[in-house]
Amino acid sequence: MQVGYRYRLYPTVEQAAALIEQMSMCRWVWNEAVALRRRAWKVEARPVGFGELCRALTVARAESAWLRAGSADCQQQAVRELCAAYGRAFQVRKSTGRAVPLPGPRRKRDGGWRTVRYTRNGHRFDSDGGLALAGVPGSVEVRWTRGLPSLPAGVTVTLDSAGRWHASFTVGVCEQALPPAGRVIGLDLGVSAALTLSDGQQIMNPRHVRRRERALARSQRALARRQRGSKNRAKARANVARQHARTADARRDFQHQATTALVRAHDVICVEDLNVKGMSASARGAVQQPGRKVRQKAGLNRAILDVGFATIRSQLAYKAVLYGRDLRVVDRWYPSSKTCSGCGQTRAKLALTERVYHCERCGLVLDRDVNAARNILAAGLAERQNGCGERIRPRPPRRAGHRSAKQKTRRATAGNPLPQGRGGSQSIQTAVPMPTSGLSLRISGSCRRTHP
Ligand SMILES: [Zn+2]
Repeated sequence: MQVGYRYRLYPTVEQAAALIEQMSMCRWVWNEAVALRRRAWKVEARPVGFGELCRALTVARAESAWLRAGSADCQQQAVRELCAAYGRAFQVRKSTGRAVPLPGPRRKRDGGWRTVRYTRNGHRFDSDGGLALAGVPGSVEVRWTRGLPSLPAGVTVTLDSAGRWHASFTVGVCEQALPPAGRVIGLDLGVSAALTLSDGQQIMNPRHVRRRERALARSQRALARRQRGSKNRAKARANVARQHARTADARRDFQHQATTALVRAHDVICVEDLNVKGMSASARGAVQQPGRKVRQKAGLNRAILDVGFATIRSQLAYKAVLYGRDLRVVDRWYPSSKTCSGCGQTRAKLALTERVYHCERCGLVLDRDVNAARNILAAGLAERQNGCGERIRPRPPRRAGHRSAKQKTRRATAGNPLPQGRGGSQSIQTAVPMPTSGLSLRISGSCRRTHP
């Protein structure tokens, strides 16, 4: 399995300058290659492949002393990346029929190129722990926070908008199955509680963006007041970028800690297949038919995106493979919130403001999200029982006016401030005691179905 390992780099001033120069060259090569491809298509209606672009690069390097001073390896990687980007765009066009844009030129002003890729030939590990890179004097200091499990095929050096350097390695790792934990879990992703577990635990949404909102607004105001093109403006911009970088770091840390803890503690994890893009769509509407509660929806969208559902899902997926766990994805159309986890009765309607699920048939009273998580668990375990490879619940046909995404709501937070610390597990108060011991692996045995 291929996994990314990332380390912080501390280049000297000269090394940083050399790396930035390499980035400029790669950007130039990329843009020239884009122009060449476009010209060939427009004039001769023929595609230009990797081989032809590389030959053009060789000619350009022979003519330009500036390009020759840089690493040929990195410049060829830029061509390779461009070809891969074209390939991906054509693939999407072919499979979906959508007219996705083809790769275009990259501008320095947009921060469009802050990456240099080196192949195996372009980098070397020094005995003193440094990283020697082609075209960069000396060896760059690396903070090895953990060891690399195997030799990487290449390295990508990046400069982020907060001015930090990183080296990313893609390495092959062996899957290491963890000993059985003897537990299964259903997960409901939400906004107030980022994760609700079927055993009643909740992991709150740390709301990274909101916590830094004021500091960010302050630095953005400072940026707006600075004169265009001035050095103070550049400093203010770096300050804003640093705020964003801190938010992203905190979010990534939260996601990794939560997903690793979940994968370690459970054999089977059931999640819902959520359409994040649809869920966080704007409520703006059209000019003829303006939407309602646009601002409220925007705030909710910010909260949805702040949790990073998609990242949590993809982290759970790869960590499950890595540690020999089983991740089961429940169909998006499964009414996990509206169904009673006690008797299976499905309610026709459930308002977003109803935080506690009341069942009229069996009298179950349970936190809305815990009820959903339990349903997701049951559905996930049932999915597996269908050995014929058929979906147990076929996707219903789309009806007119049917929402393309599930709704997520945010609990009213007035008088209930979110925890200021990092998002730890918290117990919640539910109207009925939670039979935690009932959620053992025995459940899967009792749900078994027989097929003809
Ligand atoms: Zn019920």
